[in-house]
Amino acid sequence: MTEREGAAGKTVINEMQTVIRYEELAAAAIQARQRAYAPYSRFLVGAALLDSEGRIWMGCNVENASYPAGSCAERNAVCKAVSEGARDFSAIAICGAPQDAENSGEFPECPPCGICRQVMREFGRPEMEIVLVKSEREYRVLTLAELLPESFGPDHLGGGDPACVNSGR
Ligand SMILES: [Zn+2]
Repeated sequence: MTEREGAAGKTVINEMQTVIRYEELAAAAIQARQRAYAPYSRFLVGAALLDSEGRIWMGCNVENASYPAGSCAERNAVCKAVSEGARDFSAIAICGAPQDAENSGEFPECPPCGICRQVMREFGRPEMEIVLVKSEREYRVLTLAELLPESFGPDHLGGGDPACVNSGR
């Protein structure tokens, strides 16, 4: 069970079993952020995506001299996972902040952009958890349904469960 704090910027305290998993995800997002390629914005983002089998897929933002060709950390993590056969995701931790932000000892919360929320919607269930990382021990947990209410998804096209398409399940 997750205990949520409604006010922005507050830390969520979870039951011990969940804390360990979230902390592992948070640490992976912080680690992924260090690989970000963001020479133009100098805003480094890391994401750690947890699939239904317990595997963690890491992604970072990758910018490009042709700006629109760049891609977000969250989407890169999803694309990496899907291209390796994973399609069912239960959580994603995100850590994003300007370069050198780690020197302050804590990151500001970095919610996913609208495009990434839509990409998560394609593979994530409404209860998929979005973990906004401030440090390995401090984070806030929201659900995809909270971040993208009344959303449009594969079900609207009658495509069934995208986690099962072409997967042999
Ligand atoms: Zn994004």
